[in-house]
Amino acid sequence: MLEVMGLGKTYGEGERATRAIADVSFKVDEGEFVCVVGPSGCGKTTLLRCMSGLLQPSAGRVLLDGRQIDGPPEQVGFVFQEYSRSLLPWMSVRENIALPLRHKRLTKNERARHVEEAVGSVGLTGFIDHYPWELSGGMQQRVAIARALAYQPEILLMDEPFASVDAQTRADLEDLVLRVRTAYGVTVLFVTHDIDEAVYLGDRVIVLTSAPTQVHEILEVDLPEPRDQVETKELPEFTHMRAHIFRAIKRRQPAETAT
Ligand code: ADP
Repeated sequence: MLEVMGLGKTYGEGERATRAIADVSFKVDEGEFVCVVGPSGCGKTTLLRCMSGLLQPSAGRVLLDGRQIDGPPEQVGFVFQEYSRSLLPWMSVRENIALPLRHKRLTKNERARHVEEAVGSVGLTGFIDHYPWELSGGMQQRVAIARALAYQPEILLMDEPFASVDAQTRADLEDLVLRVRTAYGVTVLFVTHDIDEAVYLGDRVIVLTSAPTQVHEILEVDLPEPRDQVETKELPEFTHMRAHIFRAIKRRQPAETAT
């Protein structure tokens, strides 16, 4: 469904050039939940921006359903880390979620139904006419997820979406994403620097090296479904996999940044 082929990205030119992505290739199948994990600054956001058509790669290409991406594709929904900047404060939850739907050919009733279903799926029905600033950080991020879902995307690209919420809210949002993924049958590519989160959520985990990044390893996550914050994380397979990835990332970090 989604294919990254020999992707490379260098920012700037000459002496001031920063090589963020060396050479990255992988595939995401329909319905899969794939997590990309790597150390901070390794090029994860750059990779996602190239995949979303927001940034032009320096080398290689990204194919969606066999077609090269050269701008933000209609089938893709995004959820970014900075929910507070992605929601418009003067619009209610309902209006924020309806905003991207203006680009779709839908009747007024269909649009309202998509918005209400998405709000229901993230458990915010009672807050549909509230404004973002009346909601907690976790609730605002749920609005951002609902906005992406209402658009009925085939694929959801998520960039460290839970990095700025507290641990309990983060766990709740992780479970929410797993539930809506099943409910909407959407393919997910989820970028995170949190190894536990990657193993907990993913069907597969792509481990990146530090910048200029390459694929270090691709792991199948063979943990029972549905995942559970306590039981899954107690399993020996879980702890083994997180230790394996931790070592891989740590070992490959340059000595001056390793701690
Ligand atoms: P991550 O998301 O893994 O933290 P990024 O993709 O943000 O990593 O950054 C990868 C590398 O590219 C870093 O060295 C960063 O400083 C550099 N970089 C990111 N964006 C830009 C930019 N707009 N101009 C120049 N360098 C950049």
